[in-house]
Amino acid sequence: MLEGKVALVTGASRGIGSEIAKKLASQGAAVILNFNGSKERAEEVKEEIEASGGTAALCQLDVSNYGACEKCMQDIIREYGHLDILVNNAGITKDGLLMKMSEEDFDRVIQINLKGAFHTIRFASRQMLKQKSGRIINISSVVGIAGNAGQANYAAAKAGIIGLTKTAAKELASRGITVNAIAPGFIDTDMTAGLPDKVKEAAAAQIPLGTFGKPADVAAAVSFLVSEDAGYITGQVLHVDGGMVM
Ligand code: NAP
Repeated sequence: MLEGKVALVTGASRGIGSEIAKKLASQGAAVILNFNGSKERAEEVKEEIEASGGTAALCQLDVSNYGACEKCMQDIIREYGHLDILVNNAGITKDGLLMKMSEEDFDRVIQINLKGAFHTIRFASRQMLKQKSGRIINISSVVGIAGNAGQANYAAAKAGIIGLTKTAAKELASRGITVNAIAPGFIDTDMTAGLPDKVKEAAAAQIPLGTFGKPADVAAAVSFLVSEDAGYITGQVLHVDGGMVM
């Protein structure tokens, strides 16, 4: 279904990003796996994709680095000649109550979770505009819609992702490029693994479907949004949250 397509997935070494990368590769896309610190895990994802007959390449960079994102995009175009799918998934948390949150922790989360997506969209859209086609998916969060105590930096970044998505959708629509966001709820990954059991139980109690989601649930939504069937959908925020926020 995605044969001949080239996809860049940021934060593809672990969790949701690695599952998205595997899903797109299983559908025939050549996938560039971005990672920052987890080299071995990124290599494992690449090996797994290749063992299943897919195509993958690694791209180490910190998405908050503007120049590195520009170079990565130039390398992709030199190597493959086009870029069809961009998934902005890389993200971190640095939680703390607003009153106690350091400026550094606020800035770092914004730099990676929000500005990183601006960087990649800026350079990818240049190529997609030339192609007159492209699909951009940004991973937001239900926290960007509903807010969450202890996550002022993260909620601000994830709400910003929604504004960025809608603006990019409006700017790029006339050239056949769609831009959508996905807002996951609680998903089982390293990011949520460290939560105390009590917090996890309280969170699960707020989810109508009763359990945390899996990275594959988010990957399935990405797979739909990059498909031909989703060609008339742009500027939307798709919740993948078991009904948590509605
Ligand atoms: P995760 O398991 O902690 O994985 C985070 C990924 O982001 C890793 O691959 C990491 O790569 C990468 N990353 C972090 N900083 C980076 C940087 N500066 N440059 C490039 N890559 C970087 O997180 P996850 O749960 O899969 O989350 C993936 C996305 O979904 C995030 O945007 C997150 O905010 C969002 N989300 C998650 C949940 C959830 O419940 N898990 C809910 C809503 C939204 P390295 O390890 O190589 O540095």
